[in-house]
Amino acid sequence: MECLHCKGRMERKTAPFSLDRKGYHVSWDAIPAWVCTQCGEPYFEAKEVELIQKALTALEREGAALVGTGPPAVKS
Ligand SMILES: [Zn+2]
Repeated sequence: MECLHCKGRMERKTAPFSLDRKGYHVSWDAIPAWVCTQCGEPYFEAKEVELIQKALTALEREGAALVGTGPPAVKS
């Protein structure tokens, strides 16, 4: 596997992952990933991406009551 940016060699390491959501931020310090030895660009495999998405889905569901985004949406 080689880096899409610089064609450098990829190593199995860990990389931080973070994203901003409305009202909160999510960040992991070390998620398993392929990291370029030249430019440091991380690539997450499908398995990790899936786990991240699962965690985010749970967080959105369970954390909805905590974030100050106003009253719960009323479904008509
Ligand atoms: Zn690279």
